[in-house]
Amino acid sequence: MSLAAIQSRIDAACAAAGRSPAEITLIAVSKVQPADRVTAVLDAGHRIFGENRVQEAQGKWPAWMETYAGVELHLLGPLQSNKVRPAVELFHAIHSVDRLKLARRIADIGQEVGRTPDLFLQVNTGAEPQKAGVAPDEVDAFVRDVRALDLPVAGLMCIPPADADPGPHFDMLADMAARNGLSGLSMGMSADFETAIAKGATHIRVGSAIFGARETAG
Ligand SMILES: *Cc1c(COP(=O)(O)O)cnc(C)c1O
Repeated sequence: MSLAAIQSRIDAACAAAGRSPAEITLIAVSKVQPADRVTAVLDAGHRIFGENRVQEAQGKWPAWMETYAGVELHLLGPLQSNKVRPAVELFHAIHSVDRLKLARRIADIGQEVGRTPDLFLQVNTGAEPQKAGVAPDEVDAFVRDVRALDLPVAGLMCIPPADADPGPHFDMLADMAARNGLSGLSMGMSADFETAIAKGATHIRVGSAIFGARETAG
């Protein structure tokens, strides 16, 4: 478990960028990790975690949340409309909002439940056909439409193409957020979170660098 090592790398990246570490939310991505690795990070005092799948999170987090007070869960993976209710009930934030139908469903369920997670709108900055997210030229309209539903839009999220230099993608996301008056930037993973911090990330999503390599796909 190298949570402390990640925290010092965050501190160094912030110092280099003239930013305060208090501006960075570290989301420890615990998807498909063995339980003992996750409880080690909980025991170390960390409370903000990310998961990719609603069902997997439902299976393991309620018990941990009884043992460890103050856990905050972030949903990072694609969300199907039929999983919106458990997602709204379990997660503090959803980073994968990428279609209006989904946003409408979150708004409806949020009304029923009496609380709505913070929402990050996912942008497909590399315009990759297989990847989730709205196209770069649709972002402004999408932000406007989601805000019109009275939903709490916290910011934008991206996953740059695997083989690309992430820097220009992070710059693109930061530009889109700024021109839409959004302060949240969910960007940066194990391989590139320092670059993301230099480019203005507010939420970094770090899995394998904290927990070790995942043994199955997630
Ligand atoms: C798995 C995942 C991460 C964490 O990836 P690592 O490379 O292990 O840090 C971050 N964001 C999303 C959306 C993911 O699916």
